[in-house]
Amino acid sequence: MALQELVNKLRAILPHESVLYETEDLRPYECDGLSAYRQLPLVVVLPHTEEQIVKILQLCHATRTPIVARGAGTGLSGGALPHAQGVLLSLAKLNQIVAIDPLARIACVQPGVRNLAISEAVAMYGLYYAPDPSSQIACSIGGNVAENSGGVHCLKYGLTVHNIVKLRVLMINGEYLEIGGESLDSAGYDLLALMTGSEGMLGIVTEITVKLIPIPEKAQLVMAAFDDVLKAGNAVANVIAAGIIPAGMEMMDKITIHAVEEFLHAGYDLDAAAILLCESDGSVEEVADEIRRIYAIMQQSGATKISTSRNEAERLKFWAGRKAAFPAAGRVSPDYYCMDGTIPRKRLAHVLNGIEKLSQEYGLRCMNVFHAGDGNLHPLILYDANQPGELERTEEFGGKILEMCIHAGGTITGEHGVGMEKINQMCIQFSKSELEMFHAVKAAFDPMGLLNPGKAVPTLHRCAELGAMHVHRGEERFAELPRF
Ligand SMILES: Cc1cc2nc3c(=O)[nH]c(=O)nc-3n(C[C@H](O)[C@H](O)[C@H](O)COP(=O)(O)OP(=O)(O)OC[C@H]3O[C@@H](n4cnc5c(N)ncnc54)[C@H](O)[C@@H]3O)c2cc1C
Repeated sequence: MALQELVNKLRAILPHESVLYETEDLRPYECDGLSAYRQLPLVVVLPHTEEQIVKILQLCHATRTPIVARGAGTGLSGGALPHAQGVLLSLAKLNQIVAIDPLARIACVQPGVRNLAISEAVAMYGLYYAPDPSSQIACSIGGNVAENSGGVHCLKYGLTVHNIVKLRVLMINGEYLEIGGESLDSAGYDLLALMTGSEGMLGIVTEITVKLIPIPEKAQLVMAAFDDVLKAGNAVANVIAAGIIPAGMEMMDKITIHAVEEFLHAGYDLDAAAILLCESDGSVEEVADEIRRIYAIMQQSGATKISTSRNEAERLKFWAGRKAAFPAAGRVSPDYYCMDGTIPRKRLAHVLNGIEKLSQEYGLRCMNVFHAGDGNLHPLILYDANQPGELERTEEFGGKILEMCIHAGGTITGEHGVGMEKINQMCIQFSKSELEMFHAVKAAFDPMGLLNPGKAVPTLHRCAELGAMHVHRGEERFAELPRF
């Protein structure tokens, strides 16, 4: 449909100022947090009611216009990258907390509500929403659902999918779907799990009922320094093997420790090859017991220095360094590329060594800061986009890291989704029949492929072009895994 005609039809649904189509108005929407990928949409729409979204979807459906949902645009895999011929649907104005039920420990919220705003709104009842992406001050709960986001505390409390009970979703034809419920089980297929992490490709999430949990009485942190990454990796495994599920267990390597310490002086040991932050939360007695056991395990695992936070201010100071790792990367390099892959915990040291080798091979520095407890790596490749060829080298390096994660028995994403960024690696992780199944699911929800086209699930044609098909354990696969 011609731009002017589309704008006119959208202006019949929304106030004029909620339909943007001039280049300078579209510019803020051209990318998400993965700014290496940019694309202006045809039009941006900013509805503030569900009824308006229904009409926008009906229009897109009738005119076969692609539509891409956008929450806060903090995604790191290009999931909210606009479509050149499509509508970008911002959910930012749907930002109301609809209801809080402190007795049932649930809250019903609109998709544009910021993650942290949920915990702020329910704090007066002594409750909070557990999944805490580092971007929680900005990212929306709708985006969290679409990416199945995680965070430091997800080791103990689970990812987004484990902390929501019900979704209200709009299909591409504008019809409603209510999925999940407040009871423990429900009949039929588990569409709640299917929708969570579906990256805006199956429907538009317009209401989310989240679980709330009591704010723990106490939280305390053990910070342990190691002279060897292997020892730190083993310490992670030893804590879990002892039957302890910490509230968070994060690791930083040497280059990260230095970048962060120079940035905000969190008190990290600059001689360490790796630092582990391990948090316990619960009642005062539980925390005291767990902290004592964690301390002992760190000692037995060969930690060179161990500190325990003595008060809340010190706990927050120790965490502050970890939480500022991304901005610290921005201080030491003009650009950085944040990867996200997951591996079995026991392969941590092996994979970190592999990343170090790749770093030398590609001549690019790489900071490693990650959710060690669940094996979710976040290598930050440092590069300079103004140097010809450096972005391409960075992307190739990143692709090799993801392939190494698959080879180590892990996956190409832990919490950031596939989006545009990792679409090629999907060809390596999944067999032809698995990808065909994904396409069949997509077609059941969105037969014309209008919702966020070209993301997350590669076409079989794309995979075939990327590499020769071969058979892996009896299944057709598209590309050879590299050996490390
Ligand atoms: C500094 C920084 C730190 C981060 N740390 C973490 C972290 O610790 N853990 C983590 O998991 N992620 C992290 N992220 C990534 C990002 O914040 C999450 O993926 C977040 O969930 C994205 O939310 P958003 O509102 O910004 O979504 P967007 O980026 O706007 O969109 C993300 C995807 O969701 C879809 N979408 C958005 N809203 C809806 C909706 N209502 N219905 C259907 N589809 C929708 C979009 O189409 C897109 O595919 C971080 C990002 C940054 C920049």
